[in-house]
Amino acid sequence: MNELFGGIEAGGTKFVCGVGTGSGDLRSEIRFPTTTPEETLGRAIDFLRHQQQEHGRLTAVGIGSFGPVDLELGRITSTPKPGWRDVDVASAVSDSLGLPVAFDTDVNAAALGEHRWGAARGLDSFVYVTVGTGIGGGGMVGGRLLHGLVHPEMGHMLVPHDREADPFDGSCPFHGNCLEGLASGPAIEKRWGRAAEDLAADHPAWELEARYLALMAMNLVAVLSPQRILLGGGVMQQRQLFAAVRRQLRDLLAGYVLSPALVDEVDSYVVPPALGAQAGLLGALALAQQ
Ligand code: ADP
Ligand code: ZN
Repeated sequence: MNELFGGIEAGGTKFVCGVGTGSGDLRSEIRFPTTTPEETLGRAIDFLRHQQQEHGRLTAVGIGSFGPVDLELGRITSTPKPGWRDVDVASAVSDSLGLPVAFDTDVNAAALGEHRWGAARGLDSFVYVTVGTGIGGGGMVGGRLLHGLVHPEMGHMLVPHDREADPFDGSCPFHGNCLEGLASGPAIEKRWGRAAEDLAADHPAWELEARYLALMAMNLVAVLSPQRILLGGGVMQQRQLFAAVRRQLRDLLAGYVLSPALVDEVDSYVVPPALGAQAGLLGALALAQQ
């Protein structure tokens, strides 16, 4: 089957657009910074239009967007990002190109890509969390992408905050010390006074970071019972975090949830995504294919 699909990873920092087939191979790809909605969406639309001239008509376009979003309307809603409040991303793209558009959160798109081609293949319940500028999570339960009243905001879950061990107030503009406020890349930088990528691998920052991520994982296990948890995003480039999160998660679970996956096989329970920098775009293609 040679159907062609378009994908847009609409990030708060950058957009990644591409065209590819249903088997996940990419014919072309473009990245550019997120500026105003007019300019940024215009570039994405021009790119896809040009691709259609070159490769033939696209069947559909998938968009994985930063949020919060209204999934029904295909709209970015209450974002603090200047200019992007109430922007109708899906209809801008579908109206300009006359193509059907599938729209979901950036993290659900990435989760879908990992499900189709990456580290969540064969699973029907898993969570994908990105730990970067913000913290966001998506995934599947029972083979369906997680949607709800709006969509999950896993990054804003509340976790125990021991102020003696960690006096940092937290950096979330809405909640202060929610998970994102305590464990995102900017939170690490604010707490320690240096960019996360500049902290040595044995800096105490990482044991504390692993603590918060293990608390999150514990909550995810308790609430959703995922078969696997994928942790991606810039902060997870600190590969030593994986062993520390697994160890702390096992301690937190305290032998209560009895599955081999959480005990002997915990190394394959909390894992990095497999698609790396292409997860978002491939996920958008997978959305289009759906
Ligand atoms: P975004 O969340 O904007 O899509 P990223 O997932 O790349 O982008 O996350 C960016 C964050 O990740 C920044 O806060 C940065 O400090 C942090 N980061 C990037 N590289 C590293 C690294 N090697 N180690 C730790 N933190 C990193
Ligand atoms: Zn918050």
